[in-house]
Order: sequence, then C-alpha cells, then structure tokens
Amino acid sequence: MDLHEYEAKQLFGEYGVPLVEGEIADTPEQVRLAPSRIGHRVVVKAQVKTGGRGKAGGVRVAEGADDARARAEQILGMDIRGHTVRRVLVEEASDIAEEYYFSFLLDRANRTFLSICSAEGGVEIEEVAATRPEAVVRTPVGPEGVDQASALAICRAAGLPEEVRDRAAQVITRLWEVAVKEDATLVEVNPLVRTADGRIIALDGKVTLDGNAAFRHPERNPFVDGADTDERENRAREKGLNYVRLDGEVGVIGNGAGLVMSTLDVVARAGEAHGGVRPANFLDIGGG
Ligand code: GDP
Ligand code: MN
Repeated sequence: MDLHEYEAKQLFGEYGVPLVEGEIADTPEQVRLAPSRIGHRVVVKAQVKTGGRGKAGGVRVAEGADDARARAEQILGMDIRGHTVRRVLVEEASDIAEEYYFSFLLDRANRTFLSICSAEGGVEIEEVAATRPEAVVRTPVGPEGVDQASALAICRAAGLPEEVRDRAAQVITRLWEVAVKEDATLVEVNPLVRTADGRIIALDGKVTLDGNAAFRHPERNPFVDGADTDERENRAREKGLNYVRLDGEVGVIGNGAGLVMSTLDVVARAGEAHGGVRPANFLDIGGG
C-alpha cells in the first residue's frame, strides 16, 4: 500500500526524522488560513500517489495568505498523471542549499534491502541515474541492518559533504527503523535537503507498506482508505474479491490467481494480433 506524502511524514515524525511544520487542507480557504499558523512563506503540495508532482506544477511556493489561497486554487482539482488532486499539504517553505536522494527498498531478486543514496537528489534524480549512474550509490543492507557507522559509510560513498554526514547518517538510521518496524517495502526521501541555515530535513516522503504484513499493524488501518484508491478496487475488497484494475478492454474473471494470470497472458498475446487489445482487469473470484 502506497502512502500519501503527509502519511509518510506522519510515520517519519513518529521516528524522529526531521521535518518542517505543515498541515493538511482540502479547500483553498483552509490553505489561506495556514500561513498565519505556519509562517509567511509556505509551500503548497498536491497530495497524490504518484511522483513528479513538482514537474507537473503540483508543488508551489506562496507568499502570505492570499497567494497561498491562489496557489491552492490552481493545484486542487488538477490532474497529475491520472490522479485528481483533492488534498494539499501546506508546509513552511524551506530555503534549500542542497538536495540529496535517499531510499531503502526491498530488493526481492537479491533477497535483501538496498539503500540508494545520491548527493544529487531532486526532481532530476531519474535523469542523474540514467546518465551518470556512478552518482547514485546502491548498497545492499545485510541482516544486521543499519547503524550509525554503516549509515556514515553510505553517506561517504555517495559523496555527501563532510559537514552533513553525521546528521544525514542519523536520519538514515531513523528511516531504517521506519522500514523495519513498519514493514515497509519502500522508504524514500527525495529530496533530503540541507537548508541554508544548516538543517537536514526530509522535504518529501514516499512510503510503501507491505500489504501482507498489514495484520501486524492495525494502528495503520486509517491509511487504507486513502482518497484516491480505485473505486472498483475498494468495492471488490469489501466483497472479499481480488481485483486489480488494468488499462485494457477485455474483462477477465477467473477461479484462482494462477488461472487468471495465465488468462491475462493469453488475452494480451492474442490481443496483439487484434490492434493491441489488452486485459481490462485481474479478477480472481477464488480457486478454493
Ligand atoms: P515531487 O516532485 O513529487 O517529488 O515533489 P517534492 O516534494 O520532492 O518537491 C519537488 C521539488 O520542489 C523539490 O525537489 C524542491 O526543489 C522543490 N521544493 C519542495 N519544497 C520546497 C520548499 O519548501 N522550498 C523550496 N524552495 N523548494 C521546494
Ligand atoms: Mn520528491
């Protein structure tokens, strides 16, 4: 289950990851009132479960109440990669000196966690990874986990400036706690920033919780009814059905996940010969 940025930051806050003050809002009027509590310069951030919000115009700095309201009017209702923005996070704007990238992710193929770190984080991280892969340092995490010393080694390998390494490493050990204790398959901070006044802050947060471990975290149930999960998927879940929406045209219903998967393959294969017709869904109504 993917979390919204504000939900990821709620987790981060519980584990002592440094954040800036912020509040969630559903209307431009709520956003207008935020600067009086947070500060004159705020950033208004679309809350949708997809990346690239910044590039799509979903992250805007505003000066004061009226500007914040105007920004919120632009962002609320916007479509970002097929996700409608219904909620924004309003945060104290940060004066950014440098942007780093950090993540832990479950590397299933190698049966381990992987840490990924770069001194060149921000919205162009994919470009950096594609053109200069050496600037993005991948380090497998062994069964012993991550402590201050191994986190420091990661920071050094990624070329984070000497003066921020200690504090960045401390943030990394806390993110590791999040990954392990919350049964996350992804914990990503891009950017992890150094502010002009020298603080290290998680400016963005992306967390995926392992649905197979959800039974161990009943306290995280409130995250499940996130506003932009698919309506049909919600209805299927209520009925105890295993449904995943896909982009195609041919509905598939089967008994048992294996049979449904095979049918999807056959439909996709046959569809290629018929103008690219594809499966519209995965629906397993039970093989037992
Ligand atoms: P994403 O595009 O969905 O990953 O959204 P982010 O939260 O990562 O924001 C995208 C970019 O907006 C960041 O890399 C920053 O450069 C910029 N940004 C976000 N928050 C602030 C802020 O408080 N102040 C300034 N100056 N820039 C910000
Ligand atoms: Mn980001």
